Amino acid sequence: MPNRIIIIGASAAGVDSALAARKKDRAAEITLITQEKLAGYSRCGLPFVIGGQIPAFKNLIVYPTAYFQLLKLNLKTETIATAINTRDKTVTIVEQAGTTQNLQYDKLVLATGAYAFMPRLKGIEKQGVYSLRTMEDGEKIDCAVKEGAKTAIIMGAGLIGLETGVALIERGLQVTVVEMLPQILPAMLDADMAKNVQLLLTEKGMRILIGKTVVELTGNEKVTGVVAGGEQLAADIVVNAFGVRPNTKLAEASGIPLGESTGIKTNTQMETPIKDVYAVGDCAETTNYITQKPVCAQLGTIAVKQGKTAGVNAAGGNTQYNGAIGSAVTKLFDTQIGVTGLTETTAQRAGIEVITGTVNSKTKAEYYPNALPLKIKLIAEKASQRIVGVQIIGGEEVTQRINAVSLAIQKQMTVPELAKADTAYAPPLSETWEPLITAAEIILMKFR
Ligand SMILES: Cc1cc2nc3c(=O)[nH]c(=O)nc-3n(C[C@H](O)[C@H](O)[C@H](O)COP(=O)(O)OP(=O)(O)OC[C@H]3O[C@@H](n4cnc5c(N)ncnc54)[C@H](O)[C@@H]3O)c2cc1C
Repeated sequence: MPNRIIIIGASAAGVDSALAARKKDRAAEITLITQEKLAGYSRCGLPFVIGGQIPAFKNLIVYPTAYFQLLKLNLKTETIATAINTRDKTVTIVEQAGTTQNLQYDKLVLATGAYAFMPRLKGIEKQGVYSLRTMEDGEKIDCAVKEGAKTAIIMGAGLIGLETGVALIERGLQVTVVEMLPQILPAMLDADMAKNVQLLLTEKGMRILIGKTVVELTGNEKVTGVVAGGEQLAADIVVNAFGVRPNTKLAEASGIPLGESTGIKTNTQMETPIKDVYAVGDCAETTNYITQKPVCAQLGTIAVKQGKTAGVNAAGGNTQYNGAIGSAVTKLFDTQIGVTGLTETTAQRAGIEVITGTVNSKTKAEYYPNALPLKIKLIAEKASQRIVGVQIIGGEEVTQRINAVSLAIQKQMTVPELAKADTAYAPPLSETWEPLITAAEIILMKFR
């Protein structure tokens, strides 16, 4: 009898679970269930279709239907998993035609993801208010622009809000971003670094209001703007980018426990406390690699790694996911922004005393034409001298520096060790002294 693996959710985490399970067990009967019309497309690319860099939404399909067929993965689209019976090991599904079925599983992977959080604000249900989570959401925003929207308000200055705001400016709209907290990108950057990004965005025409809370959306049937911080702001469309929440309703209703972070509780095998049930991706709780505290990390990179872990394990293997460091990058206009590990703020919240080193450098030798700015804030734990995080803002070359520091964190590298790293240099490619090393030396001086 083949191993029956059911995966609920067929996005980053679900599809990678299925691929890993198939690699491990050629004979397993693998079923993927998604309520969306399409499986295996990139949500991360949505802002760049709206912005016009990617020609069409269909270009975001990473795994076409034929690929699932080739790998003998039984993909059920437009199908909702409505109940799980963990004692009888069944999943109840309702297909698009309304037919209900009970499917039997040996192993179950929950990859139900996250949803855009909609606060209970007066007027939030009005026409012209959008979120950006699915391809359909992206198409609706694109359609509103094509139909003549000229002004937009983005509620929330996180990564998705700002990427969407930039995309709309690139399409010719006037964009105002309203953020309740006193800084933009609060989950990614410390306030001192965020200020630099805010300035760059403002110079490109984005109006940013920080420390202002949206209290109401105005208009009759159709939205005409928002009231925020006592000010009435007008707009043709409003994008809700208040953040995402783990989609755990099905798990909760089935008695699968949640953790402290409100994601589904898992161990390093990505198993939930219920036998033969795994949870992965945006719906799952994991451990922060540095603080060892529970976290719901909600990044595509983490979703695919957790998915792979659960897929291998569900197919009879034994592998572990050892926690999220939280590496993220974005590009807003011409500026690249990246983070890995803890910020000074998140370190303080976790009770970790840190020393920081900030450098302003260039991406090429000072004298080389078109060298672009690079600002690095390196963060180290005071007691152990271990590197615990970095934030980088630059014109280019941000991602691989983020990846290098992520590896340093994973290997528990100390600041003195980083300061001695053997790095490369050529005038068109870098400074003689790698700016990460200069940042490490600044911290070393503070240690002394
Ligand atoms: C605009 C945007 C930009 C992003 N950019 C980046 C980026 O640059 N880098 C990065 O690392 N991450 C980025 N992310 C985050 C990344 O997309 C998510 O972390 C990733 O999609 C999580 O994958 P997942 O499979 O866990 O969940 P999801 O992608 O949320 O997929 C879950 C799927 O399960 C389905 N589902 C849920 N419940 C049921 C049910 N009961 N029955 C059937 N189907 C169900 C959902 O409909 C959904 O299709 C971005 C996200 C967005 C929205």
